[in-house]
Amino acid sequence: MLGKLKPWRRALAFQWRCFCNHNTGKVTTDIVIIGAGIIGLSSAYELAKQGASVTVLDRGEVGMEASWAGGGILFPLLPWDYRGEVTALTGLGASLYPAWMDALQDSSGIDPEYVKCGMRVLSGARSMQNAPIWCERHGVRFVEKDGEFMLPDVAQVRNPRLIRALGKTLENMGVTILCGREITALEKRGQRISGIKTADGTIYSGQNYVVCAGAWSNNLIEIRSFPVRGQMLLFEAEPGFADSILLKDDIYLVPRRDGHILVGSTIEYAGFDKSVTAEAAGFLHESAAAILPELGSMNPVRQWAGLRPGSIDNIPVICRHPDMENLYINSGHFRYGVTMAPASARILSSLFSGEAPPLDIGAYNCQR
Ligand SMILES: Cc1cc2nc3c(=O)[nH]c(=O)nc-3n(C[C@H](O)[C@H](O)[C@H](O)COP(=O)(O)OP(=O)(O)OC[C@H]3O[C@@H](n4cnc5c(N)ncnc54)[C@H](O)[C@@H]3O)c2cc1C
Repeated sequence: MLGKLKPWRRALAFQWRCFCNHNTGKVTTDIVIIGAGIIGLSSAYELAKQGASVTVLDRGEVGMEASWAGGGILFPLLPWDYRGEVTALTGLGASLYPAWMDALQDSSGIDPEYVKCGMRVLSGARSMQNAPIWCERHGVRFVEKDGEFMLPDVAQVRNPRLIRALGKTLENMGVTILCGREITALEKRGQRISGIKTADGTIYSGQNYVVCAGAWSNNLIEIRSFPVRGQMLLFEAEPGFADSILLKDDIYLVPRRDGHILVGSTIEYAGFDKSVTAEAAGFLHESAAAILPELGSMNPVRQWAGLRPGSIDNIPVICRHPDMENLYINSGHFRYGVTMAPASARILSSLFSGEAPPLDIGAYNCQR
């Protein structure tokens, strides 16, 4: 009988027989995911695709934290400055995007505005001398001209649309998403999590739990992740005002299809404070005008901030907890969580199914 099930279902059926549920709430689902950002949602997508029943809980609305706030560039800024583990995960993530976007658009009817618009790294950007060797080594196409560096295959996605497409697809797949549920504690019984408790005292339980709580993950479980504020500025221009992403050092301009130009972003260690500052607005506006002078005379239409789930060297934690056998973590994606999301979700689902992970995952475990 078990032989007819997919590998993942076989593993789960085995655990099901071994695990006697002692907690007060009933077993509602195979997998409970804490956090409905891009990481929690993409994890739910991969796990549901494997046949698991999945429930995602978020204390707020779906995808309204870092995943909404980001720029949607599907490539690291100045990737030659990063460690191989970042390159591996962002590279795999970016390569999975085209098929993922087609699947989400087909299922949801929502266009996430995935577009290969290219990224121009402007002259004077730091550590440019390392770029050609890095690109050649990693098979990334580039054109070098007049001290500038064009990466024609870099793509972008429009975050709010991606979140909506993913949410709708999950709904179509039968995934339950519960908003307004703040998880305050993981209830332990021996070496297992027996349930998760919300602020109003309700306990939700499943067979397995995945923490995807972004910058707040460390409040639930120790993973050395920390909030890093990023502020963004938005300009309204005509469509076609700029056609590729423009980057100078850490400041980038992202042109959306409808003409909006996003300018990002600051890197601030301000705890969980998500407020915006006049100082950052001034800095971003000035930096944007240095890249595209026309922006100097335009007024920004919006400013916002998001909290990135910071991690050492931008390397997330994607693993089973070393002590709790039914607890998993997918968190700490710092500056590149949107890019890494489909790859991280594949790694997570391989931990459940026992299938070979898509890349060497040693660097992403909790104990590194
Ligand atoms: C300004 C900015 C620009 C960025 N630009 C890019 C970019 O261009 N490209 C790129 O790849 N990445 C970018 N990023 C990074 C990317 O956005 C993040 O790495 C990614 O969104 C992290 O996703 P997440 O799901 O882990 O976190 P989040 O989106 O923050 O989601 C975490 C969720 O967990 C929920 N939660 C937290 N605690 C609890 C709890 N106790 N109970 C229930 N729910 C809880 C929160 O409400 C939230 O919805 C940017 C980030 C920022 C802020």
